[in-house]
Amino acid sequence: MTAVLPGATIGVVGGGQLGRMLGLEARRLGYRFAVLDPEPDAPAAQIADLRLCAPWDDEAAGAALARACDVVTVETEHVPAAALARIEEVVPLRPGAAVFGAVQDRLLQRELLARVGAPQAPFAGVSDERELAAAIARIGLPAILKRRRGGYDGRGQVRIEGRRDAEGALRRLGGAPATLEPVVPFEREISVLLARARDGARAVYPIAENVHRAQTLRETRAPARLSPAEQAAAEALAGRVADALGHVGVLALELFVCEGGRLLVNEIAPRVHNSGHFTLGACVTSQFEQHLRAICDLPLGDPSLVAPALMVNLYGDLWARGAPDFRPLLGRKDARLHLYGKREPRPGRKMGHVLLLGGPGGPPPDASTAVLAALGAQP
Ligand code: AMP
Repeated sequence: MTAVLPGATIGVVGGGQLGRMLGLEARRLGYRFAVLDPEPDAPAAQIADLRLCAPWDDEAAGAALARACDVVTVETEHVPAAALARIEEVVPLRPGAAVFGAVQDRLLQRELLARVGAPQAPFAGVSDERELAAAIARIGLPAILKRRRGGYDGRGQVRIEGRRDAEGALRRLGGAPATLEPVVPFEREISVLLARARDGARAVYPIAENVHRAQTLRETRAPARLSPAEQAAAEALAGRVADALGHVGVLALELFVCEGGRLLVNEIAPRVHNSGHFTLGACVTSQFEQHLRAICDLPLGDPSLVAPALMVNLYGDLWARGAPDFRPLLGRKDARLHLYGKREPRPGRKMGHVLLLGGPGGPPPDASTAVLAALGAQP
C-alpha cells in the first residue's frame, strides 16, 4: 500500500480523549476523521467529520467505518480483537488486530513479555480458588489480582495483603479469569514511548517519569531522572517489544524502576498514552502526529524535547463544586490547558490536563500542587 496522504480519511475505533487528540492533529494535517463510539457526544465524536454511533464491536458499524476510511486505528486496547480483524479484512488497520489480540489479555501479554526476555515480576494465571491458593503459595503476599481482560486504571484489580483478603478476591472481580502478581516495591515509575513505522524504523521519545495515586496517573515529568545505562536499557526493551509485536504506530511501555536501577515491565499499551501527553506542546512532533505519520506510512517526525515538561491530569473530583475557575491557571505564562469536552464530571474521570513547560531544571518540584491549588483543589 502507498502512503495515506492528507485529504484521505483516518478512522479511529474509540471516542475518548486519545481519539480526540489524534483527530485534532489529523485535522491540522489536512485529513478527514471518522470515529466509531457508542457515545454520540464522546470527546472524539465532537470533532469528527463522520460519527458512527455504535458499540466498538458492532459488525455493521465496523464495516461502515472500514468502507469510509483509508486507514483505521484504535485508541483503546479493549476493543475485541475479532471485531478489529473484521475491519482489517477491508481496510489497513494499524496497529493490526493481532497486536491487540496479544496485549488485551494480561496473561497473554505477560507470556509475550517472557518470550522476548523482558524482565517482569513473577505472574500466574488464576481462574479458580484452587489456582489462587497455588499462585499465592508461589508468588507470596502482598499481591495484586488483576482481571485478564478489560481492567484499566486500577479497575478490575484487588490487592491481597493477607490470607483473609484472598477469600472472595476472585468474587470481587466478578469471577473473571485473572492474573496474580506480587506488589512490586518500586522506587519510581517510568514509561517509554516510541513510534514504530511499517519498515521497522523507530523514533523514541525522552523517557517520562510518572506519579500514580490510587492506581491512576497524577503527573508525568519529562525527561525522567535516569542514568544513561538505565535509559538505554529501557529504550532497548521497548524496541524489542514493539518489534516482537510487529507494531505500527505509537506504543508505550510502562516500567517500574526498582532498587539499584533494576527495571521491571508493568504493562504494554499499544497506542498513544496518557504519559505521552507532554509531547503535545513539549516535543517537536507530538505523539498524536507521530502515530498518524506511522499509520499513514509517512516519515516519522522528530521526537526531541523542546523544553522539560510536567503534565498534570485533571480529574472530575476538581468539578465537585461546579467547573473550576480556570483564570488563575491561565494567568500562568508556563501553563497550557487541555480539556476533553466531557460534559459529565465524575470522581476519577479524566477531564483534561495541564502542561507546564520549564527552564533547564524543569518545572519546580511543587508545580503540580500549585496547578491544582490554582484550580481550587483542597490540599
Ligand atoms: P495497571 O493498571 O496495571 O497499569 O496499574 C496501575 C498502577 O497501579 C501502576 O502504574 C502502579 O502504580 C500500580 N501497580 C500496578 N501493578 C502493581 C504491582 N504489581 N506492584 C505495585 N504497584 C502496582
